[in-house]
Amino acid sequence: MTIALEDRLVLEYDLVSPASFTALPHLVRLATSSTRARSLAGWILRRAAGHHGCDDLLAGCANAIAEYRALLDRHMQSRPADYLETFIALLAVMEQYHWAAALGDFTDDFYELPCPHCAVDVTVAIGDHGRYAAIRDWHLGDVDRRDLRPATPGELSGTGHWMYETAVRDSQGALADGITYLFGKAECPSCASVFSIADEYGSANLPILM
Ligand SMILES: [Zn+2]
Repeated sequence: MTIALEDRLVLEYDLVSPASFTALPHLVRLATSSTRARSLAGWILRRAAGHHGCDDLLAGCANAIAEYRALLDRHMQSRPADYLETFIALLAVMEQYHWAAALGDFTDDFYELPCPHCAVDVTVAIGDHGRYAAIRDWHLGDVDRRDLRPATPGELSGTGHWMYETAVRDSQGALADGITYLFGKAECPSCASVFSIADEYGSANLPILM
């Protein structure tokens, strides 16, 4: 049985520990030609969220991470089948860990977040079945639905702006469209206050620092 170099790296280094950063430069060198190495490098970076001591390890891998970022960006512009996975790896490179963990393809995505005004649990749906804020009822499903208010491209800033512009650049229309909703506003079905979905979801899902 032949074991590929990237698999030997996995066996050699414990990828669930920060020591996996030792493997990162090797994986990045392999990542141009190996989909598996590209995925593993992204996975290691996503694991960096919230791990004590990872800041130093990230700083030590700065050259490899910069190389990996450029590689992911080139790969995305070829509009590959694994576009979303590559996009998510790039979010992890940018240390946008909660978006790397939460972003889906917007066919059937749900985000649970507390209303910042009345604290009721709000379910935000962005998918083919609708784009709404609702109260999720165990028996009745999503009740008291309110349509989401998407951001216009001009209203986007920061990470949302980057995500939208990148998806548009790469002709990922459904992703770009979903991002305008994710970075748009929701109306609370309980108290009718209007709030930013991304701000509330982000503050409710920051990495836990240990
Ligand atoms: Zn509310």
